[in-house]
Amino acid sequence: MQKQELLRHLPKIDELISLLPETSPYSTRLRAAREAVSSWRTRILAGEAVEAESIVTQVANDARQRLIALESHSLRPVVNATGVVIHTNLGRSLLPDIAFDALCQAAGRYSNLEYDLVKGERGSRYSHVEDLLCELTGAEAALVVNNNAAATLIVLESLAKDREVVVSRGELVEIGGSFRIPDVMAKSGAILKEIGATNRTHFRDYESAISDQTVMLMKVHQSNFSIVGFTKSVPLRQIAELSHSHNLIAYEDLGSGTLVDFSRYGLPYEPTVQESLKAGADVVSFSGDKLLGGPQAGIIVGSKQLLDKIKTNPLNRAMRIDKLTLSALESILRLYREPSRAVKLIPTLSMLTVTADQLLPRARGLAKKLNHLNLANFTFSLHETVSKAGGGSLPLSCMKSWAVVAESKAFSAAELEKRLRDATPPVIVRIENNRIVMDIRTVLEKDTDIIISTFKGLRNDA
Ligand SMILES: *Cc1c(COP(=O)(O)O)cnc(C)c1O
Repeated sequence: MQKQELLRHLPKIDELISLLPETSPYSTRLRAAREAVSSWRTRILAGEAVEAESIVTQVANDARQRLIALESHSLRPVVNATGVVIHTNLGRSLLPDIAFDALCQAAGRYSNLEYDLVKGERGSRYSHVEDLLCELTGAEAALVVNNNAAATLIVLESLAKDREVVVSRGELVEIGGSFRIPDVMAKSGAILKEIGATNRTHFRDYESAISDQTVMLMKVHQSNFSIVGFTKSVPLRQIAELSHSHNLIAYEDLGSGTLVDFSRYGLPYEPTVQESLKAGADVVSFSGDKLLGGPQAGIIVGSKQLLDKIKTNPLNRAMRIDKLTLSALESILRLYREPSRAVKLIPTLSMLTVTADQLLPRARGLAKKLNHLNLANFTFSLHETVSKAGGGSLPLSCMKSWAVVAESKAFSAAELEKRLRDATPPVIVRIENNRIVMDIRTVLEKDTDIIISTFKGLRNDA
């Protein structure tokens, strides 16, 4: 049939809308109908073989699918079977149940967000977590902004605008998403004074870089990479001493930032916020949703005098965190009063510290249940694997873990990966050696049944 003839068989928009469920808003049905017709017109014009008799049914089915997609929530839960704990694309850290109640209360009710209940007058939104942060880190003062990128920017803008900041060339890092220390420095108006070489920076490099223009010595934690071999860097303690003998500010961007010593749990050592302050840093900034395991936030702790300057910077208003984040962060910080409890209850921490031996029964259980489905074209087996911390944290960590590996005679690994990703809810997996690998480390208890019913659903397609 001629293309023109086929185009005439396409349903009219009004006709198509009348075939869609009236429970959906008219504007959404209109959009779905228009998009479906437009897509089929393009296919016909491209010369695709289209059956004229069933064209209305086919376009209507297409429009219905589009309507379902338009009506479903775009941001939705997925199953993370990648084994990457702080997966930036999948939302980094999960909040513990204990934080939900506070979060819901803050969301659905009025609160004393900026109201001092003792004095009956305007209060500060930061007061709710500042005291806790000081208690936990030993800092004099604290401030929380949107994320650590914002924290870095506001620290530099408040304390070092138009003045020189000395940073080692080995620490001019890129975090991803176009966050680079030299670029942030330029945006803040501070002048970057690079010293040393990529692999080696000496104390004398810092000493000789200091001039009348210098205001700050900055240390950036190599949170997402590591330089090994012929290397040298100057410990924070020495940088801080040098700063103070010249009346300069010592600032450390800790990146992930942690309040617990991970080496106690068999993970690579990661400097804690408390240690940075003890070593003499005047200001320290770190993320809320990396190793801390809380909501997205940028936390700044340090001396009261410097924090006061940052707090009164007009940028602070533009970077302020909302009440939902604040209430979740407060719940998380409270848990850190008892570190052993924090490690158990905060999902990021418990996932990072759980051992392969503890994971084995869970992986075995999942493999067994999947095999009991007796899916003709699938085999499921148990394999040792290695999980990653992710999110630019603990770059050298290789945590032994267990995975359920799925192989199918009906699908290639790439096809199967896509089917799992298209499922509701989507199941996100790794492909290794042309096989589907589901690392149990990041799979929640409640995700197990989802994975099983997802594979059950695939049976019909196979
Ligand atoms: C992750 C990171 C940042 C950015 O933190 P976000 O909370 O993602 O904005 C900044 N500096 C370092 C060293 C980091 O590791």
